[in-house]
Amino acid sequence: MYAHQQEHKRILTALRAKGVTQTSEFVLYPFPDRDQLRWMLGNQQMHNEFNAALNLNGADMESVDLKDDTDFKVWLWDHYAEHRAANIALGI
Ligand SMILES: [Zn+2]
Repeated sequence: MYAHQQEHKRILTALRAKGVTQTSEFVLYPFPDRDQLRWMLGNQQMHNEFNAALNLNGADMESVDLKDDTDFKVWLWDHYAEHRAANIALGI
């Protein structure tokens, strides 16, 4: 999960270098034991912003049931796909 925070930082840094300054930064590590919805919303907000800035399609990242194995796997995959698409769009 620490790698995820670093990934978001890399994307933010690359976006800011391109002049996209309207970007929020939320703490994503460590993943909280409580108030996980807040984490989900923060992550979603950052995804919404980089997707919008890069003209990418985004999935719903905040309504995952973390206790449902399939739901969680789909979420992980969607999440990974969005990070990958952003990296490719940014050339990082
Ligand atoms: Zn993310």
